[in-house]
Amino acid sequence: MSETDFDAIVVGSGCAGAVAAYELAKAGKSVLVVERGNFAGAKNMTGGRIYSHSLKKVFPDFEQEAPLERKITHERMAFMDPAAQMAVDFTSPELAEEGKDSYSVLRAPFDQWLASKAEDAGAEYICGIAVEELLKDGAGRVTGVRAGEDEITAEVTILAEGCNTVLAEKCLGNPRPKPSQMAVGIKQVFELPAAQIEDRFLVPEGEGAAMLFVGDCTHGNVGGGFLYTNKDSISLGLVATISTAADGANPHPVYQMLEDFKGHPAVAPIIRGAKLVEHSGHMVPEGGYDMVPRYVFDGCLVAGETAGLCMNMGYQVRGMDFAVASGQMAGQAAVRALDAGDTSAAGLASYKTAMENSFVIQDLETFRKWPHTMEGWSSMFTDYPIMVKEIFNALFSVDGEPQKPLLKRMMPLVKKRGLFKLAGEMRKAVKSL
Ligand SMILES: Cc1cc2nc3c(=O)[nH]c(=O)nc-3n(C[C@H](O)[C@H](O)[C@H](O)COP(=O)(O)OP(=O)(O)OC[C@H]3O[C@@H](n4cnc5c(N)ncnc54)[C@H](O)[C@@H]3O)c2cc1C
Repeated sequence: MSETDFDAIVVGSGCAGAVAAYELAKAGKSVLVVERGNFAGAKNMTGGRIYSHSLKKVFPDFEQEAPLERKITHERMAFMDPAAQMAVDFTSPELAEEGKDSYSVLRAPFDQWLASKAEDAGAEYICGIAVEELLKDGAGRVTGVRAGEDEITAEVTILAEGCNTVLAEKCLGNPRPKPSQMAVGIKQVFELPAAQIEDRFLVPEGEGAAMLFVGDCTHGNVGGGFLYTNKDSISLGLVATISTAADGANPHPVYQMLEDFKGHPAVAPIIRGAKLVEHSGHMVPEGGYDMVPRYVFDGCLVAGETAGLCMNMGYQVRGMDFAVASGQMAGQAAVRALDAGDTSAAGLASYKTAMENSFVIQDLETFRKWPHTMEGWSSMFTDYPIMVKEIFNALFSVDGEPQKPLLKRMMPLVKKRGLFKLAGEMRKAVKSL
């Protein structure tokens, strides 16, 4: 092999990049991580909850070490119209079982911890500078990066720049995601004492709740709201499609949706008296399997959201567990290629095999149709929440008038929306889940 400055360079210290760097450094390889934020996590955002299974494979003792907020043991999914909410509320010891457990996290401390693990293993860090270009030789093989004035070379470069795939498009020729494959998320963090969080969300000490909302939170547009409890704060936000956000004629800009969501009668009491301490916005890929680009190149691997690895199922949002797993697989494949003295695409191909044999590509492929189902299913965000409200009003209201049998009360409400249409939509949704 020719002389290079490092065995490996990692671009970006999010979940994917930091874990890839950790794997390489742990194997004794010289690694440089270039992170454009002033520190790892400075620019990163998530909802968010991380499903722990992939983190545990990298850091078996993460539960003792990582800055986790709360173990999520209480799940809620809610349909909301402008004034009402119908929620499915679920809690079970199984949610806390090792391997199935999940935790709320705040990215600034969490990403700094991940970076510290890579640094402790021996990775070098440069923060506060963006990689502007991937260097290539005459044959098109990636040979390193250009960051500011510096050209730094490596046998292998791992690109983990997140969902804004500037370098992947410009230097690797990966396609720009379509607007329909991207969404925008906004989030606010509200401080609230731990005891009040536990009282409001009915969780034992140290445990937490995750809530997903559909309907009026996005004023009937495709998307949804989320809420996660942290140790002594609440993360509250929503995700809307890029086309909704970019539609100048939309009477409800995304920031207004969030304001209205916060004022909804089902949400306002949850954050009552809480102090707003943080506001952030970020894009999120939602195209699923169909937006996964090529991720193995001569001298370069692509990991995390740069490889399109994210999934919003409405009842589950997953990106961080994919990012951690792909970072680990990319780091390990790079180590194997370095040891074999072949970091060409052929030498790095074990990354693709590992990804395809793992939950990462398999889950994305299994739920491939879901993003298309959601895209064309406007009634899920408009009619359904209203229908659900009417059904539950009919169920719970007692006004002293003689009541009709339940079925007779329910059927007109369902028929109003078209029984066959409803059945067809449900069938299509179930088939894509
Ligand atoms: C609103 C919202 C809610 C979400 N909720 C959840 C959730 O609840 N659960 C879940 O699992 N996932 C969730 N996700 C998705 C999850 O946050 C991402 O999938 C995950 O963070 C991707 O990790 P990553 O390492 O690929 O990218 P990132 O975490 O984005 O890291 C990329 C890193 O690269 C750096 N970088 C970028 N360009 C350059 C450059 N040119 N030079 C140097 N550095 C660069 C960035 O600063 C950043 O540190 C959510 C996302 C959003 C936006």
